Amino acid sequence: MPTLAVVLVGDNPASIVYVRHKQEAAVSAGMQARDVHLPATISQSDLIATVRRLSTDTGVHGILVQLPLPAGLDEYAAIDAIEPIKDVDGLHPVNMGLLVEGRQRFVPATPAGCEELLVRSGFPCDGKHVVVVGRSDIVGKPVSLLLMQKRKGANATVTVCHSRTTNLAEITRQADILIAAIGKPRFITADMVKQGVVVIDVGINEIAAPERKRGYRLVGDVDFDRVAEKAAAITPVPGGVGPMTIAMLLKNTLKAARLQVEGER
Ligand code: NAP
Repeated sequence: MPTLAVVLVGDNPASIVYVRHKQEAAVSAGMQARDVHLPATISQSDLIATVRRLSTDTGVHGILVQLPLPAGLDEYAAIDAIEPIKDVDGLHPVNMGLLVEGRQRFVPATPAGCEELLVRSGFPCDGKHVVVVGRSDIVGKPVSLLLMQKRKGANATVTVCHSRTTNLAEITRQADILIAAIGKPRFITADMVKQGVVVIDVGINEIAAPERKRGYRLVGDVDFDRVAEKAAAITPVPGGVGPMTIAMLLKNTLKAARLQVEGER
């Protein structure tokens, strides 16, 4: 049975929820989920040792280290300790390198989910101008690399924007497809998009909602109601990219198990 080990360090409330969703989804898909919950006080070397142990454990096919790690722990070192064939988040430099070359093995789950959403909804990127706002290692950078590949469903002309981009709105208004991965609630407003744009909102942001029992609610990086009036299609938050990310993680886990059992590369 494909087995996914989820490493959570500390007690970040959002991370606890994300990890639970991933584990529940794995189990409901017939996989096994191994919960590896470590204290925030763990040393760097103990964290690395734990990840290395999972890497050599033949009963584990996929390893995910939930990010962000608590302050003081080196995320790159933790990811580097994952055996690349078990790196179902696709963040290990070997898998990132394969993605750069267009011979990807494990595409990071959120970017893979963005492409799948676009293709399945009838908006493949071929020949389109895709503007990505955000250049993080887990979303902005890999989604840009993925969608500019010479491949059906990709083949996009990609522009990547970030916090030092000048005239951001001028660029986002040129987007046929806009991918927002910024981490700022409702940052993309209606005046920043053109009529007929297709919008993928990756952002997950908490905003105060005193009327709710938990005191907050989740919104994306896009001002959904206003932008939806101009968009040909737009993903909701919650419910858009989030579930796709989990689905792609499970797809990667199944692939990892097959590669390890069947010895393929
Ligand atoms: P991140 O590492 O904080 O990166 C944010 C990016 O946005 C950075 O590249 C930053 O630019 C850019 N940015 C910030 N302010 C900007 C501005 N004013 N104008 C233009 N660009 C700006 O965040 P992340 O990890 O990529 O996540 C982004 C969002 O997606 C978050 O809300 C996160 O919770 C969400 N997320 C969702 C999923 C999912 O499954 N749906 C998965 C991962 C992340 P600089 O590089 O210049 O700082």
